[in-house]
Amino acid sequence: MMGLMQQQPLLISSLIDFAARFHGDTEIVSRRVEGDRHRTTWAKVQRRSMRLARGLDAWGVQRGERVGTLAWNGYRHLELYYGVSGSGRVLHTINPRLHPEQIAWIVNHAEDQVVAFELSFVPIIQAIAAKCPGVRKWVALCEPGALPGDALGEVAGLVGYEEWLAAQSEQPYAWPVLDENEASSICYTSGTTGHPKGVLYSHRSTLLHAAAGALPDVMCLSAADSVLPVVPMFHVNAWGTPYAAAMVGCKLVLPGPALDGASLFEIMDDEGVTLSAGVPTVWLGLLAKIRQEGRRPLSLARVLIGGSAAPQAMIESFQDEWGVEVRHAWGMTEMSPLGTAAAFKFKHQALAPQQRMHLQTSQGRPLFGVDMRVVGADGAELPWDGRAVGELEVRGPWVLADYYRSGLPNPLHDGWFPTGDVVSIDADGFMRIVDRSKDVIKSGGEWISSIDIENVAMAHPAVAMAACVAVPHPKWDERPLLVVVKKPGAQVESRDLLTFYEGKVAKWWIPDDVMFVDAIPLGATGKILKTRLREQLLGSAGQS
Ligand code: AMP
Repeated sequence: MMGLMQQQPLLISSLIDFAARFHGDTEIVSRRVEGDRHRTTWAKVQRRSMRLARGLDAWGVQRGERVGTLAWNGYRHLELYYGVSGSGRVLHTINPRLHPEQIAWIVNHAEDQVVAFELSFVPIIQAIAAKCPGVRKWVALCEPGALPGDALGEVAGLVGYEEWLAAQSEQPYAWPVLDENEASSICYTSGTTGHPKGVLYSHRSTLLHAAAGALPDVMCLSAADSVLPVVPMFHVNAWGTPYAAAMVGCKLVLPGPALDGASLFEIMDDEGVTLSAGVPTVWLGLLAKIRQEGRRPLSLARVLIGGSAAPQAMIESFQDEWGVEVRHAWGMTEMSPLGTAAAFKFKHQALAPQQRMHLQTSQGRPLFGVDMRVVGADGAELPWDGRAVGELEVRGPWVLADYYRSGLPNPLHDGWFPTGDVVSIDADGFMRIVDRSKDVIKSGGEWISSIDIENVAMAHPAVAMAACVAVPHPKWDERPLLVVVKKPGAQVESRDLLTFYEGKVAKWWIPDDVMFVDAIPLGATGKILKTRLREQLLGSAGQS
């Protein structure tokens, strides 16, 4: 027997309509590229995203076609989030930190019809426009009259965002009633080898993820909050905060490009920020500023730390010194991204501080909707005893089913997505990452492909063999170190090799140093044994 309840698809347009209707005067505050602070409301964001939808209709952008963005966290990016997805197009958020070659590849792979960009990214547009012939319109997210016509004179289809919106009717727009399983946004993740891979989210997955992320054991979001996502809207939808914020109708504070400790402290103070979310590198900057000021931002109550492991000293500093509650979370682009959060259960209240800290330094337990298991090398499931270590696999309604047109075999294993994280799980479902099986380095919350770094080194005439490993770094968490065996008789200095990288990879991908060795340990199949190499270099404490 079927239930007798109304059938309404879960759509992103319903989020902005809800926020505009019931929290219409709640503020969205953005620090802009120009340096000033802009104030708007959920009601105004709705109206402008409707104009934007109309503008896309006028350009003939079809349902399901992709609209790219190269933008910081700000109100115009938020309008694109709602106007593009709400009207049935697919929002393609692009990571501006990638090398322009990779960005051009991604834009072409996604077949973006329109790319909207902030003025900070004009050099990227200069580098890629001619390589992306499929893009019909390049929209500059700037004030009226500030179109970078001089810098981008050669670019066909250049339009100013404000002029484009102003030309559209103010009348309310009827959002299309889509199938909730239609695609809403796409984010590319830099894989270990080859090209980046697209993860295509749906309206349904996005809404379910936002609802789960807002729950008390994750972000604990409510209309009484003022939320500052430091995590970028150009990567995995800023952990879903732009959607979850509309779902609960809270105040949203968007930091633009100013992510240093002093700027964050100032805007948190001024805008009554209660919750903020970011990677550990960002929190190092904020904590330094807090120490300098001798106080925390006045209303800051909680921080969500994820993307890389939250160090114990950081959790202690926030909680014990400054009275800010830490929620350590883990996730991946392939899971929208939230998977687990380290929140206590009722029975944990009685634990000693040291045991509670042990739980908080773990990556936490699953949100409702995420199932996980840990498997050994033979693919068999391992016990949840906090000791057995294997690869973590996940499944759920906001976990990827396949990459977008990757041309690769489906990544699932018996319906589970293998994460590449090597973990143990305890009897209470708390997961702890102990290593990573994927050959990547996470620096300041962003990936560097060690294999790409090795391939460049191998192209140098003096290099016989190269391996790139992660070494711990106090600010960036990890940095790449290049280990090289020279060809017999070859003369080469570290400096020569590092210069060799210029123009071939993004600047921040270039290894910090080169170490010359006589041999690199290899496994039975000739593969470099990274774990052995790291042990040799760093001692047994060295982990990826
Ligand atoms: P991304 O797809 O860029 O979001 O990266 C996802 C990967 O980042 C995960 O598979 C982990 O390797 C790593 N990661 C994310 N959160 C954490 C965390 N809290 N602790 C340790 N590693 C993390």
